Amino acid sequence: MSKSTIRVFKFGGASVQNAASIRNVTELIRSQRTTPLLVVVSAMGKMTNALERLVNDYRSGSDYRKELAFIKKYHDDVLSELFEKGDDLFDKIEFTYTELEKQLFQPGEYDEVYDQVVSFGEILSTQILAAFLIKNSIPTVWVDARKVVSTDSSWREGKIRWEETEKNCQPLLFALNDHVMITQGFLGSDSNHKTVTLGRDGSDFSAAIFASCLHAQSVTIWKDVPGVMNADPKRLSGAVVFDELPFKEAAEMTYYGASVIHPKTIKPLANKNIPLLVKNFDDPSLPGTKIHECSVFQLPPLIVFKDNQCLISCKVTDYTFFSEEQLQVVFQLVAGHGVHINVMQNSAISFSFCVDFRDNKVMPLIGELSKHFEVYYNTGLTLITIKNYDQKTFNEYRSKKGVILEQSSRSTLQVLLKN
Ligand code: ASP
Ligand code: MG
Repeated sequence: MSKSTIRVFKFGGASVQNAASIRNVTELIRSQRTTPLLVVVSAMGKMTNALERLVNDYRSGSDYRKELAFIKKYHDDVLSELFEKGDDLFDKIEFTYTELEKQLFQPGEYDEVYDQVVSFGEILSTQILAAFLIKNSIPTVWVDARKVVSTDSSWREGKIRWEETEKNCQPLLFALNDHVMITQGFLGSDSNHKTVTLGRDGSDFSAAIFASCLHAQSVTIWKDVPGVMNADPKRLSGAVVFDELPFKEAAEMTYYGASVIHPKTIKPLANKNIPLLVKNFDDPSLPGTKIHECSVFQLPPLIVFKDNQCLISCKVTDYTFFSEEQLQVVFQLVAGHGVHINVMQNSAISFSFCVDFRDNKVMPLIGELSKHFEVYYNTGLTLITIKNYDQKTFNEYRSKKGVILEQSSRSTLQVLLKN
């Protein structure tokens, strides 16, 4: 199928965090708009975290009312800044709050209820943005992503049913016309019409899903940074913006922990050869980064920091060597606990690996491993990955203080540091 003229924009939480930023997004859509345009939006600011706390509080029997009041006030404050008293939107949002509470009080498995409740962050943000665009005379339709993005019932990490989703996208092609379509990131629904979320920070992935199914021309992710950079500018001065990146390079970056784009975003776009632009929402005149099918000669070294790492070492103590059978035991336990290995290394008598330290997953894993091996672990570590290193960065990072593990290939160096 040939490409349509549709473009997809994605705005994250930071770009819609208050009334001023919603005004900014509105201006941006007005000035950057070519029709037809589909706009995927996240929950405002840190509202997803607040909704998570709400579910936790309610389910653990704590007083949930404070969190609920905070969430309502956050949105109400934005509403009263953007709309005159008496606007229909106030009633509509009140109704959405009632729906949210209804879902919160439903009995059911924790993860299922989590999805029904946490999804309201995106419902609220899109209701507000769509109404504000209309108020500003931009022809807009609000689309319920749950009626389009079809998933299985894996709560909190829904797997996409692609064929179904693509079929559901067809009516959008006609409805889009000269309208801006506003829809939610992060959301889908299963065959029972229950809301299923796509995993934290999943809105980038949503944009890629819509773009893929609509055969879009391009996706633009609007961010608070000037583009994809070779390091986090908050951590390293002198970070530079990539003008362009091959899909493959961008996908690998996200694997190593670069948080600029959600790891699942690249694949659907690369498969359909849909370019991904990463641009700055404060200054749309900046060129940003274009991720597409290309080859770039000599990329500058890319440096990715991953904090909160845990190094786990399993040892055999009976003068045998660490065997493949024992590796199998380790891998089975790691996979069974839903833990992902970031780096691994073996020696004659031990196998060491580094993982994100999440108490609720890693401690039970260590418990299980201890039944088979002598286990040591270290927390609070930082994993630094240098992709496409040059001699200077190679030497610099290897000789950092506190390196407790290092590994290099011809293109990539990884060092694990004790802080
Ligand atoms: N609002 C969701 C989250 O914060 C999805 C997203 O922002 O991409 O995880
Ligand atoms: Mg977010």
